[in-house]
Amino acid sequence: MSTDRPERIFEGKVASPGLAAGHIRLALRRPVAVVSTGDPAQERRRFDAALAVGAESLGRLVKRQSDEAAAGMLEFQLALIGDDELIEPVRRAISEGAAAAAAWSEALGRQIADYEAADDAYFRARAADLADLRERVLSLLQGETEDEAETVEGAILVAEDLGPSRFLELDWGRWRGGALMGGSVSGHVAILARARGVPLVVGLDLSAASLVAGADAILDAEKGRLVQYPLGATRVAFSRRMAERQSTAAAEAEFLPRPATTRSGRIIAVAINVDEPGAVRSVDPAHCDGIGLTRTEFLFSGPGGRPDEERQLAIYGGLIAWAGGRPVTIRTLDAGGDKPIEGLTPEGETNPFLGLRGIRLSLARLDAFLPQLRALARAAALGPLKVMLPMVTVPRELEETRHLFRDVLAELGRAGLPAAMPKLGMMVEVPAAALNVARFEADFFSIGSNDLVQYVTATGRDCAAVSALHDPLNPAVLELIARVVAHGRARGIEVGLCGDMASDNRYLPALLDLGLGSLSVAPARLAAVKAAIAHHG
Ligand code: PEP
Ligand code: MG
Repeated sequence: MSTDRPERIFEGKVASPGLAAGHIRLALRRPVAVVSTGDPAQERRRFDAALAVGAESLGRLVKRQSDEAAAGMLEFQLALIGDDELIEPVRRAISEGAAAAAAWSEALGRQIADYEAADDAYFRARAADLADLRERVLSLLQGETEDEAETVEGAILVAEDLGPSRFLELDWGRWRGGALMGGSVSGHVAILARARGVPLVVGLDLSAASLVAGADAILDAEKGRLVQYPLGATRVAFSRRMAERQSTAAAEAEFLPRPATTRSGRIIAVAINVDEPGAVRSVDPAHCDGIGLTRTEFLFSGPGGRPDEERQLAIYGGLIAWAGGRPVTIRTLDAGGDKPIEGLTPEGETNPFLGLRGIRLSLARLDAFLPQLRALARAAALGPLKVMLPMVTVPRELEETRHLFRDVLAELGRAGLPAAMPKLGMMVEVPAAALNVARFEADFFSIGSNDLVQYVTATGRDCAAVSALHDPLNPAVLELIARVVAHGRARGIEVGLCGDMASDNRYLPALLDLGLGSLSVAPARLAAVKAAIAHHG
């Protein structure tokens, strides 16, 4: 039990606040320990058993997935684990004397390299799934039981790093939280975690050797630490804080059904940010003012590959149906930066945040952009749709997109498909756009504070070393926000803010003081934000 083990505290930074207690589940890239019995017959039996157990647990996981993209990834692994073309060479190598783990690792290594070198982006994207499968079977060969390999229920994930698409593949309803050695507090994994209320600590200072898989642990994503084998006193203090948070959450939930109103009677529209369509399932549409941001790039980066026009229409239509007449804002593809998409974003850019990303990439890749515009125009016939362009820098980008929309509408009309022109707005996240806001003929503006802060303060949102300078309350940032708000007020154009600043009680009062009347926040923060607005003067 934990009481006879030394308590150890690993420090990091809070990326998504919350508290969790559970056991440590390591997902660290370890070297392959080639444990062999030295007997080919026995190695063969161990290998076949690991495959059988792996296939069984994958089958169960597929059935449990509600998320289509995650199910697709697992089905792909399931097909491979039963594929003779992959398995037979491993068995041959084992019968010739190779250790099962080494033979498997080598065979998968070759396959991964082939997939990574493929011309087709779809195959390149699957290399990560193969690496995942390699790890799964290796874990089983190295003595993890089926339960250890599969049971994430109540576990705290500890990993070196996690990309946004991998984050989305995990079933966070089963994990208690995560602790990463890499990562940053403003990157997209942090945003995704905050959207779901998943406690996450990043930049964890640990040596893999000092962590124990399966150890009892506390994830304190308020102070930014992971405590292994917490002592009795630590547990008691932690339980008290958990109880306090639960009662605060219950008090905040009281504000959910009411319109968000400040003490002085100002009504603030509070919409939600949607990172993957399933996220709306946890929100009652009556509790918010629709959707203020849909990050469609995550639809394009899953293992299902690039969604075609019909698939996109179904997804956008689903969001419009969910919102029941409330406005739905869908942002066109914002690939690039820390959201690369295989086959779409350029490789080898020295600074992807300043490169071909957002609307710049969409206008350069009409093969991806036009099907999205067609799906959006068709979705606009289904309900109140607002389309928003990311990373707009100059008015021409907005105008070009409006022209493309008109062409698309004419085409759809000729084909007899119902479609409409949505409201066309833009993110204000590039300083040039904020300074020149009066020159843009947008139907609405939404301030993207995550990127605006990064570009104004010249601090990468994924760079932990400069996070102290990455300050949303920097007066230069506030001045630009005020400028956009003033322009909207003077011209009667809606101005909102959908960056993470709006979801954070440390910054929300400043935004309300600047006169913002429309916010879009992480779904998990909706109640807390509405409560904070109610307490604001
Ligand atoms: C932003 O930049 O504030 C924003 C909302 O977009 P993203 O975080 O997806 O870049
Ligand atoms: Mg942005």
